[in-house]
Amino acid sequence: MQKYVCTACDYIYDPALGDPDSGIKPGTAFEDIPDDWECPDCGVNKEDFEPFEED
Ligand SMILES: [Zn+2]
Repeated sequence: MQKYVCTACDYIYDPALGDPDSGIKPGTAFEDIPDDWECPDCGVNKEDFEPFEED
């Protein structure tokens, strides 16, 4: 699944891991995260994330 990166702090959202601390289960695609979710590191919202391109 596509990873996403926070453009504010470079946190990587990995769908394989989810964000259990925020109630996002492992295996949750970025598109399926609730719109009120915030970056666990800096608090911005989903609009400030972009697809992460791996080499
Ligand atoms: Zn962030």
